Order: sequence, then C-alpha cells, then structure tokens
Amino acid sequence: MKNKFWIFITLALVVSACQRNDYFEELRPENDSFLEDDFGDNGTSGEDDWNDHQHGDDGETVLTTYRITGDDIDKIRDYQVTGKYLAFQQDYAKHLAIWELVTRLIPGEYRSRLVEFEIFHGENELLGYVAPVNEGDLSRWKFALAIDAAENLEEVNFKDFFTYVVIHEYGHVLTLNEQEINSDYTSCNTFTIQEGCPKTAAYINQNFQIGWADIYDEFQGLNENQIEDFYKKYQNRFSSPYAATNPGEDVAEVFAFFITTENPPRGNSIADQKIQSMYDQPYLTELRNKIRQAPAVRALKPGSWLENPMRNKFRIGKHQHTTHL
Ligand SMILES: [Zn+2]
Repeated sequence: MKNKFWIFITLALVVSACQRNDYFEELRPENDSFLEDDFGDNGTSGEDDWNDHQHGDDGETVLTTYRITGDDIDKIRDYQVTGKYLAFQQDYAKHLAIWELVTRLIPGEYRSRLVEFEIFHGENELLGYVAPVNEGDLSRWKFALAIDAAENLEEVNFKDFFTYVVIHEYGHVLTLNEQEINSDYTSCNTFTIQEGCPKTAAYINQNFQIGWADIYDEFQGLNENQIEDFYKKYQNRFSSPYAATNPGEDVAEVFAFFITTENPPRGNSIADQKIQSMYDQPYLTELRNKIRQAPAVRALKPGSWLENPMRNKFRIGKHQHTTHL
C-alpha cells in the first residue's frame, strides 16, 4: 500500500505546500473535468505537517475538520480560507446539521469507524469523499461532505440527492474497512485494489464475482476515456454509469440503491443481481432495516433520489482503474 496512489476511487487534492498520501473515495457529479490528469495525493487530516491552506484541483476547498465522538463532533481545525468560503466555514450550524443528518441516517453502532468529519466546499463538482485517517489503517476513516451540496437537512428523505450521497460514501467505509480488505498481504486470491486485497467474503468481492470477474481484464486494459463506452457495452451490469468507474464505486452504488430503493429489483440483469445479493447478507439487511425504520426517517415516499434532476449530472468518474499489482 505504501505510496501507491492508485486511484481506484481517488481524487487528488493538490495541496500547495504539502504533498500527502491520503486518497479519497469520492463522489462527484458530471459537470466537471473528470478526465483531468490530476491523480495525485495529498489530503487532509490530522498530521503534523499539515498546511492549513487547502484547495483541491477538483475545485473543492476544505473548510473545517471535526473529531467524531459518538454522536458528537468537536472541531479539530478550520483551514485558512478567504472570500465566499469564509461564510461557509463560519456556518457551524449547517456543519452540525449536516453531521446530524449523518447520525440520523447511519445508526451509531455502524459508525464506529468514522473518526473524523470534514466539511468542504465542492463547487458543485465534488459531493463527498472518504479516506483512511492514516494510510494503511482501514479501521479509522474520515467522512467528508460538501456543504454546497447539502440540502433538506431537516428530515431524512430518500428522495433527496444529498441523502443518497451520504449513503454512497458510507458504502465505501462499509466495503473498504479492515474486516473486508487485507491491507497488508503477500498474495491475493481475489483481486487487488488501492486499499489492498479484498477477502473472499468481502462485499466488494461478492459484487465483483457477480459482475466484474469475466470482464475485468478488458476493464484493466482501458484508458479513462474508454470507460463510458465500457459502461454502454455492459450497461445491464451497472446500476448507474458511475458504477462502471471501478469495482469500488460499483459496490458503493449497489449499496446506495439497496438502501434507498423501496423494494428489491425484480429483474434478472446483472445489475439487479448485484442489488439482490445484498438482500442475502443478514448484516446488510439488518442495517437497511435500521436505516429505513429509524424514527427520523419521515419521508419514505415511493421513488427515490433517482428522480432528482441532480442525478442527470452524473457521469463516469475520472477515478483511474489501474491496479497496482
Ligand atoms: Zn464513491
């Protein structure tokens, strides 16, 4: 894992004075420059040499990082920002409201791996990301959300796009944590990702076996400009174009569909099979029930965020898909 910034998922924030090795599971809508060659590293969170002025080259500006303790957050730092970002940084009430939405959506016992919460401004390009707080330790994660994308924070409504964003990002932590992935390994009998070697029973591997294994060689031979065609070719395998970005994004999308859609899909497509397979996982169905039956969930209307116009802004991400082994 050391110094491998394979971008399965990753987005590099370029920090002016401080190159870092963090990487991000990110989610972003379409209207940006996905295909820029800006894979790099850098990051966030809790290290000594942190430069407090942070702009990502994907348009985002990190505002504030919090430490998570149970349902509470307390500020670790504000980053040095100017102009319009100051108002977003100083809107702590909204930071807290965003965090409270997370706590209402994800039951506390499922949040033990979230140790830092970060608010950034995504310029309507970057919606959220997660990253291990320390490289190689998949048990402690930073959870970051875009303040400019946050809407309808008063209630949990699966028709809201931002609710979907939270679920998608949580799906990364769920599928990339230390119980799922061996970050330190000598041989791998599944497939390798930036974070390491997924265990056989890992959700990401289950998903991979359903819909990636037989086309993975082809996928690995693609450059990023060819992924959209790859998606079109195998459209019945994916819940969304974004899911075709790489196996990590796919399983996060499958999880988001699994949680936010009201009923299991009834079709036979590989995309449907992926979602259906999550219903066979007791841990996941219990989590789904807890999320959907929470008292705070007041808007379980038919339909979903798929009806949100924001949805149409999605496209293939730029996350690179090269493996490091
Ligand atoms: Zn993602």
